[in-house]
Amino acid sequence: MRTILLGPPGAGKGTQAETIVNEFSIPHISTGDIFRSNIKEGTTLGKKAKEYMDQGLLVPDELTIELVKDRLLQDDCKNGFLLDGFPRTIAQADALEDALKSMNQSLDCVINIVVSAELLIERAVGRRVCKDCGQTYHVKFNPSSKEGICDKCGGELLQRKDDTEETVSKRISVYQEQTEPLIEYYTNKGIIINIDGEKPIDEVSRDIVASLRSR
Ligand code: ADP
Ligand code: ADP
Ligand code: ZN
Repeated sequence: MRTILLGPPGAGKGTQAETIVNEFSIPHISTGDIFRSNIKEGTTLGKKAKEYMDQGLLVPDELTIELVKDRLLQDDCKNGFLLDGFPRTIAQADALEDALKSMNQSLDCVINIVVSAELLIERAVGRRVCKDCGQTYHVKFNPSSKEGICDKCGGELLQRKDDTEETVSKRISVYQEQTEPLIEYYTNKGIIINIDGEKPIDEVSRDIVASLRSR
């Protein structure tokens, strides 16, 4: 299965990606995660990406598109993939389509997680991420059993630098301007699945898996 998770910052893309990739045994490709690991390792790409990410802006298409194209050529993507946080612009979506065409592939569907703007700030500001294994929690909606400690690996839970109220607001407006047009783009192609992302995490998971299975 070749699919994309679309949705505003804080909608639950990363959270749902975990269930989907386990269910369908496909790799999870998160451009945000790739940029963050480059920042951690201090690479040239990481240094460039950080300037944009810290401001809540999109990393330029030139840097992002090549990265994803290379990733899709790797062996583990042969039988499918889940893209999370890519594409985020029409130019990225066009480039993805061209890249897949040249590999004789196409997208099966696009999962659009719908959450109203009012809920997004609270979700993103309360997000905590394990510094060692990357597991995501929420202080109120999905807390770890011991405050500040990862249930999975015992690592320390941190807040992302771009998860402040100010930067999240900026990211939401960037989403509305540059990414939201993709909903129409994929609706016109007849491959969008709209999912109510305001329900509790496990209900959203169930809805997504059921929609994917019934296709
Ligand atoms: P995204 O990848 O779309 O930015 P995340 O999956 O990281 O979003 O989720 C953002 C925050 O909201 C996290 O702290 C997560 O635990 C929480 N969250 C995710 N889905 C839900 C949900 N359905 N209800 C309540 N909180 C959620
Ligand atoms: P969220 O799901 O909360 O928006 P991500 O982890 O997907 O967060 O992205 C974090 C940041 O990484 C974005 O605000 C942006 O700066 C950068 N980024 C991630 N994916 C892309 C992309 N496809 N194009 C441009 N920038 C991106
Ligand atoms: Zn952990």
